Amino acid sequence: MNAEIIAVGSELLLGQIANTNAKFVSTQLSELGINVFYHTVVGDNADRLKSAIDIAESRADLIIFSGGLGPTKDDLTKETIAKHLGLPLVIDEAALSFIEQFFAARGRGMTENNRKQALILEGSEVLANHNGMAPGMLLEKAGYTYILLPGPPKELEPMFQFEAKPKLAALLNDGGVIQSHVLRFYGIGEAELEVRVQDILDSQTNPTVAPLASDGEVTLRITAKARNVEEAWRLIKLKEAEILAIVGEYHYGDNDDSLASKLVEMLVHHKLSISAAESLTAGLFQSELAEISGVGNTLVGGVVTYTPEAKMKQLGIEKSLLDQCGIVSGECAGAMAAKVREKFGTDIGVGLTGAAGPDPHDGQPPGTIWLGFSIGDGEPFTHKLQLQGMRNTNRLRTVKFACSYLMRLLVEKGYEKI
Ligand code: ATP
Repeated sequence: MNAEIIAVGSELLLGQIANTNAKFVSTQLSELGINVFYHTVVGDNADRLKSAIDIAESRADLIIFSGGLGPTKDDLTKETIAKHLGLPLVIDEAALSFIEQFFAARGRGMTENNRKQALILEGSEVLANHNGMAPGMLLEKAGYTYILLPGPPKELEPMFQFEAKPKLAALLNDGGVIQSHVLRFYGIGEAELEVRVQDILDSQTNPTVAPLASDGEVTLRITAKARNVEEAWRLIKLKEAEILAIVGEYHYGDNDDSLASKLVEMLVHHKLSISAAESLTAGLFQSELAEISGVGNTLVGGVVTYTPEAKMKQLGIEKSLLDQCGIVSGECAGAMAAKVREKFGTDIGVGLTGAAGPDPHDGQPPGTIWLGFSIGDGEPFTHKLQLQGMRNTNRLRTVKFACSYLMRLLVEKGYEKI
């Protein structure tokens, strides 16, 4: 199956909203192993929508529409498709009674154009809308599958995920199953990872392997189709082993794992306590850890020490050290790590300082970051990063790098990776 997504709405063309529905549906389709070759955006205009459908039919067999199912005059997706396919629109009694109840419950009168929302293409399967009034539709006709979804993301997303996707999976596999699994990598760029697993990407059929990069991380989604779940997982595991044999050193987790969640898992497992002193990240490191349930067994506390005065007053760092080495220095990051560890009495202390950007800070170019880690006896470990991103990207990347680097240090110190 090859898909095209047609997003209908003049506000998309005017730049008033971003086409997040196409992004969402594409991600979902890739999980089913369905190729999406085109995204089309068209305004609320019947003629232009009709030509978009003609073009989509020349290059796709699954056509998914978003938007234009509402009650107003410019909501014309259903009407245009009905005319194009020569199909009447008929009232769906279940949808109509849902709309009537909605208005009755609020003591409001229902207008004729609200009835319009209960009209469906004759012969289509209804996709229930649990978050709004317009039902979605799935229709198979003349070798094409058409799916009509409402515009608001809070309606479209659950409708696609829980109503349309299982039906598509069944259509695709005729009683079989589709399973997918995401491998997460850190410390390797998307381009390099793709080059390293190029042979696997080039020869993929079943399972399919789809790369995706975001926020300094890369993922590979493995999707297998099979007669049953066991067979699908056997295929996924074989492909996973092939991939990890090549780039396993960068693999840190799967599916919904994050670097912070893996670090917390590891700390909790080894009963290690942690504290942090943060300058440029101003609490972001601790906040990322705090998102993970169970962190209370490991994160004891920390301080935000943004200015040199705060570093001296809160942590007791010597003025002479700051004067001699600077705030953006390995010495400062190491001292922050050691002092915060001492202050909170933890097994590990983390110190993060740097020039987040866009301006230089303390004589250092933007993106210069120093990380300090105090673990066990001896001097703290320090590491310099040179980042190129915008201010907040640099702050987030510092936190991700700190999680990853700390896990690596712990492994070097003999703690098993979880
Ligand atoms: P409604 O009943 O709310 O009118 P509808 O199915 O007719 O729903 P539209 O009128 O086209 O949908 O869009 C309603 C709202 O949904 C838009 O104002 C916008 O906020 C959001 N929306 C529409 N299309 C998209 C899209 N492609 N991506 C993200 N949001 C969208």
